[in-house]
Amino acid sequence: MLENTYLCAVFGKSMKENIIEAVERILDNYLEMNNHRKTPERYTILKAIYSIHGHFTLEELNEKLAGEFNFPVSRATLYNTLNLFLELRLVTRHRFQGSTKYEACYDNTNHCHQICTMCGKEMDIRSSDINEAVDNMRLKRFRKDGFTLYVFGVCSSCQAKITKRKRQEKEKEEKKAKEKKKLNK
Ligand SMILES: [Zn+2]
Ligand SMILES: [Zn+2]
Repeated sequence: MLENTYLCAVFGKSMKENIIEAVERILDNYLEMNNHRKTPERYTILKAIYSIHGHFTLEELNEKLAGEFNFPVSRATLYNTLNLFLELRLVTRHRFQGSTKYEACYDNTNHCHQICTMCGKEMDIRSSDINEAVDNMRLKRFRKDGFTLYVFGVCSSCQAKITKRKRQEKEKEEKKAKEKKKLNK
């Protein structure tokens, strides 16, 4: 990261441009080493992925390519390309409740997610304490490259719904009890 900042200062490029160049280089190397042709599909898909901020579904990426990038690709191509990027660690896959989401990860490996177990809403959270704790963790015969953490719980709007439902149930019960009392009189 420090190196990136340095490069930005030297060449007057944005951080984002540097990141895209770096990930393209990783793809270049892979394709050259494996004698694959450098077709434009993979590069355009990579660029689209790194232009998205945060998590995205396969459908969302598809829409972005067809719309903003004017570069529609088949689902099979998209799926295969994403699998290649997963292998090259350019993309991570999250299996959130009921949906599979992807995320660009070259400059974004260490982070945590909070996930609501009721509505499935997920958000990235940053914690320097956790980063530090993982940094300080000593693992035997293992080089750490990065981590992803999931924190499960209930979001505030779901909590509000639960409280409301409980209150309504209580009011119903009280009403019933009152009517019973009246009848018994
Ligand atoms: Zn929720
Ligand atoms: Zn994330």
